[in-house]
Amino acid sequence: MSGQTPPTRTLLTHEALIKSSLEELPTVVFPALFKEVFAGRHTNLLKAMVAAWPFPCLPVGPLIKKPNLETLQALLDGVDMRLTREFHPRCLMTPFETFSITQCLISQRDFDFFSCSHNLFKLKHLEIRGMILYALDLMPLRGLLQKVADTLEFLDFQWCRMKDSQINALLPALSQCTHLNQINFYHNDFSMSTLKELLQHTANWSKMNVEQCPAPLQCYNELGHVSVERFVQLCQELMYTLRAIRQPKSISFATDSCHKCCKPCVYDQDPILCSCFQ
Ligand SMILES: [Zn+2]
Repeated sequence: MSGQTPPTRTLLTHEALIKSSLEELPTVVFPALFKEVFAGRHTNLLKAMVAAWPFPCLPVGPLIKKPNLETLQALLDGVDMRLTREFHPRCLMTPFETFSITQCLISQRDFDFFSCSHNLFKLKHLEIRGMILYALDLMPLRGLLQKVADTLEFLDFQWCRMKDSQINALLPALSQCTHLNQINFYHNDFSMSTLKELLQHTANWSKMNVEQCPAPLQCYNELGHVSVERFVQLCQELMYTLRAIRQPKSISFATDSCHKCCKPCVYDQDPILCSCFQ
């Protein structure tokens, strides 16, 4: 028994027609169609859809299950096309308020490209999670943060494995992001001195509600295991450092997941240790 063909699949057989009529397509059709186009790697149509995307947010993170550079490139080309069209009366362009890219590989070129996109100048929500950044030059990202300093409210850099030099490069821009109310830097590799430096650049974060930072590298012994004594002592010291600057509402420091029980040690008001230490 043949089931009914989903309408988006039917539409995809007429790729050229869709491309030419994207402006007239009902906005309600866009999300489902985009999913099909993304999954089917119809890169030309993908570019055109990003360029004509009618919503302020384009959540592509959940769609990228396996890194696919061709699809990612098409996505970035679409952002570029949006940028080009911005100069037309298009009064049709809505700058993105949310940009989320998670768990994929990215080249320096692609990273530079999206960081420089003028279409992201009103971002409120920036999520770059699970993208390994330690080998990249983050100066373009600093430029992006400076550009969105007046609008950015949410910043997620979890699992990026940034190094000291990289977060240090971002500090001048981060300190200007005075509307931030939530940040997550868990699973990056920062030393104690860099974490202190980071906190000292946050005096203007008066709207901050929730801050999540990695525990300093000095918490781990030479085998990569957490030393509880050092973890507690260093996190306490970081709390004192921050409280001398401003009163945080909620801040926590977390280690990487334990090798044995897969849980982190988290220092909030008090230390919550992984199962192995309880
Ligand atoms: Zn454990």
